[in-house]
Amino acid sequence: MKKNPFSLEPDKPAILPAETTVRRVVDYSVWDLRMLAAAKLFSSWSKDPSTRVGALLVDSSRRFVSMGYNGFAAGLDDSVDRLSNREYKYGCVLHAEENVFFNATAPLFGTTLYTYPMPPCSKCTAAAIQVGVIRIVSVSGHYRTLSSDWKEKLEWAREMCEQVSIPIVLYPLEQVSFPDDALFRFVPSPDSLDKKVAP
Ligand SMILES: [Zn+2]
Repeated sequence: MKKNPFSLEPDKPAILPAETTVRRVVDYSVWDLRMLAAAKLFSSWSKDPSTRVGALLVDSSRRFVSMGYNGFAAGLDDSVDRLSNREYKYGCVLHAEENVFFNATAPLFGTTLYTYPMPPCSKCTAAAIQVGVIRIVSVSGHYRTLSSDWKEKLEWAREMCEQVSIPIVLYPLEQVSFPDDALFRFVPSPDSLDKKVAP
């Protein structure tokens, strides 16, 4: 018979509630949307005039492991002229997901990959599988605007993830926003600063 180690009378049987397991209930949708909002912020750092993608890796405790956005390798000329030359760009640019893998400073195995505003292409999905990503989260709103080439790559990516049981979770594009522009709420405008220092 099981003894209650905390009882003052240790010989008496333990009286334990039927449900003794404490489960952490996590609302993944809230955290997914927060992480996608962060990926959206990182996408804005890209200088690409046509497609700006942000990516983020978090571990099982939702700690940031890495971030990235699409662009040329560090130190290269990333002027608008260079980025507007599509043939050159497609041949040389690093995707946001490639950068998020290269930029990582912690182990990638078991991480979740967030991308905005589209899911990873087939090559980046293959890399994600290889480094140990276990879940991919992105948005679905831009799918209709993608070229047939991109749609084919996304289909290959979906098939690969299906083979290795990696879920791809897609949220509607309009759900990803900064609530009340909270990230910028406490930044005073130059006008308000002027008023404060005026005599
Ligand atoms: Zn890619």
